[in-house]
Amino acid sequence: MPRKRETDYSEMKKALEFESKNAWKDLDEREVDEFSKEYVDFMSKGRTERTFSEEAINLLKKNGYQPIEDVNYKDEVKAYYLYRGKTLAIYKIPKKFNGGLNIIASHIDSPRIDFKPKPIYEDSNMTLAKTHYYGGIKKYQWFNIPLAIIGVVAKSDGSVVKVNVGSDPKDPVFVISDLLPHLDRNENKKVSDITGEMLNLIIGSKPVTFEKMEEPLKLNVLKILNEKYGITEEDLSSAELEIVPSFEPREIGFDRSMIGAYGHDDKICAFASLKALIDSPKVSRPTVILFFDKEEIGSYGSTGASHQFWMLPLKKILKARGIDLEVSFDEMIEDTAVLSSDVNAALDPTFKDVFEANNSAFLGKGVVVTKYTGARGKAGSSDADAEFVAKIRKVFNDNKVVWQTGELGKVDVGGGGTIALFFAEYGMHVVDVGPALLGMHSPFEIVSKADLYQTYLAYLAFIKDYV
Ligand code: MN
Ligand code: MN
Repeated sequence: MPRKRETDYSEMKKALEFESKNAWKDLDEREVDEFSKEYVDFMSKGRTERTFSEEAINLLKKNGYQPIEDVNYKDEVKAYYLYRGKTLAIYKIPKKFNGGLNIIASHIDSPRIDFKPKPIYEDSNMTLAKTHYYGGIKKYQWFNIPLAIIGVVAKSDGSVVKVNVGSDPKDPVFVISDLLPHLDRNENKKVSDITGEMLNLIIGSKPVTFEKMEEPLKLNVLKILNEKYGITEEDLSSAELEIVPSFEPREIGFDRSMIGAYGHDDKICAFASLKALIDSPKVSRPTVILFFDKEEIGSYGSTGASHQFWMLPLKKILKARGIDLEVSFDEMIEDTAVLSSDVNAALDPTFKDVFEANNSAFLGKGVVVTKYTGARGKAGSSDADAEFVAKIRKVFNDNKVVWQTGELGKVDVGGGGTIALFFAEYGMHVVDVGPALLGMHSPFEIVSKADLYQTYLAYLAFIKDYV
């Protein structure tokens, strides 16, 4: 009788361990809480791409980073470049280097509602503002919640006035009112029947005078705006006024294990990458952290990822160091590794049917590596090379980062896009890496604190070890 051969299952078990990982295991909970607290404070101030950039610059200045125009390109460069007030590049370039760059790129715009160019009108004894939503929102989620207005008004004399009303607890807030259920009954309205033209923001209800005149309520609001900001109605045609939730980010759960906030997508990755660079004593290759605008509407526009604004200062650095640009720049770019750091969807226990559990990301199981995005047969995705994903996986494993794979929903059900393809276009290696959210694109998105921290650890590992 032949002897039964012993089978070594340990290699196969590796796959099972991968399934059972928990992002909290081996983490110092005090460290996680401290990091989360800093994130919550940051998010409370940085609700829009402009205010997020401002907050980032404050933190960078405190950590020895200078405006790019102030640095000597020949020395080590630790600098930031704010482009058109809305998008930011942060450089850490050693004095001498070979090969490509390491880039972590995220987007700092989030779905929201914008003012139209001719917004203010009076109707039924109220003053309202017409709006046009920005990005993929479920419109019903924006009714009857307190809202803030944050942005700028650019005047024809060249000055730019900042507006921020509703994020300070002492400020008034604004609201879009929904129909009461008593009157909604007969029409048998579905939430999907809500149209964009119903997103009318209530901004006042008092007349400027009780004497007979045209539109006294509208005039009262215009008077207040003129007194406070020195602006006229026409100035609103060259404005970017963004309507965002006014409530503060909060801890969620009896165990305080999660954070609810507006705009995790994708400011959570931006924050984690900013902290990772600041906290990295050394970089394995020249490193660039990028925050883009306009991702939620397709990345078009000069501040979106379709315009790689960050390359110009880099070319100036190479030129100052006597490096031949013609060939060297393209060689460097082809050898560049990019983490397109964006969020994925966590499997929602209440809506399981749209997910495929084996290949979905889970809340609390670590940072998500998303090899491809896209929809209907991966269309629109850059689909990262297997070889590159393997190298990233090794860096994460070597640094004990808890990570998981993820796909956005079932085949032909889900899908989406990120900024990855705008880097692939230049021949850079790129893969999506970020935490998984519940309630993505809602006014109050949910993330696990442990996933936030694992994302930070993943970016730290990439900056330190990827070559
Ligand atoms: Mn995103
Ligand atoms: Mn998004």
